[in-house]
Formats: sequence, C-alpha cells, structure tokens
Amino acid sequence: MEQTFIMIKPDGVQRGLVGEIIGRFEKKGFTLKGLKLITVDRHFAEQHYADLSAKPFFNGLVEYIISGPVTAMVWEGKNVVTTGRKIIGATNPADSAPGTIRGDYAIDIGRNVIHGSDSVESAKKEIALWFPEGIAEWRSSVHQWIY
Ligand code: ADP
Ligand code: MG
Repeated sequence: MEQTFIMIKPDGVQRGLVGEIIGRFEKKGFTLKGLKLITVDRHFAEQHYADLSAKPFFNGLVEYIISGPVTAMVWEGKNVVTTGRKIIGATNPADSAPGTIRGDYAIDIGRNVIHGSDSVESAKKEIALWFPEGIAEWRSSVHQWIY
C-alpha cells in the first residue's frame, strides 16, 4: 500500500493546527502509520531539502524548519501521495484553493504550515530519512470497509 511523508512545520505546530490537520487525513480515510514531534538540526533540514539547495530561499527555509518542533508523520492509503498533495494545496498559499490546508490556514509561501512528499520515490526517501527506526506494521479492521 502506498505511503507518504507529511510534516506539520513549526508554524503549524505553534498555531495549534496539529489536531485539525491529522483530522483531515483521518476523515479522508487514510491510515496513520508513523507519528512523532521532533526538532531537527540544520544538517538534517538541509538533507530533507537537498533538492532545493541552489534556491535563493534555501537558507531561510532551513531556518524556518529548525525554528521549533515539527510533527513528522507517515500516512498510508491508495494514491496517498497525490491525494495528500491535493489536501495540502498549492505551495504558495496565494494560489491554494479554499478547502485545502494551505488555502484555509496560510498566507505566506515562507510559512505554509505543512509539507507533503511530491512523488512515491520522494516519499520513500523522506520516510527513510525521518523514520530510520522504521514504521510499526498494523492493520485496521476498518480497511476492508474503506477499500
Ligand atoms: P512544496 O512544499 O509544495 O513541495 P517546494 O518543494 O517547491 O514546495 O518548496 C519547499 C518549501 O520551500 C515550500 O513548501 C515553502 O515552505 C518553501 N518555499 C518554496 N518557494 C519559496 C519561495 N519562493 N520563498 C520562500 N519559501 C519558499
Ligand atoms: Mg516539495
């Protein structure tokens, strides 16, 4: 079953949006497979955003991500990578549709509340980086009903 890496960024944690965001993924029908509150260091944040290292906003982005605890999660379900990105909304909250997380809770691209993997391949890399201890296997009895 497909998995994605979702991270509530420091602004989302500090604004008390963790419960709201988890609720949206749960109510959609996805399954929570990994969850931890973690403050990462500069080196770790630079690894997570390595693909963006040439961007002019890279240093500011790293400062933002290390500024406080983030909520790191693994969510599982059919098409969860693509659907997760839809639930999150466009990168720039100015373009995110109302009803999406960024569309409802963010204004600034530099404080856009949440991260979600952009492909199955990135999801695998990000889950390995953020959950080196592995993800506990469990099956909900609700699964047979959802799928
Ligand atoms: P996404 O998070 O939607 O996958 P990207 O991978 O392109 O978007 O960028 C990663 C993160 O970098 C964004 O979520 C945002 O926090 C930040 N970011 C992207 N573009 C800018 C920008 N022009 N100025 C400041 N921060 C940016
Ligand atoms: Mg991205």
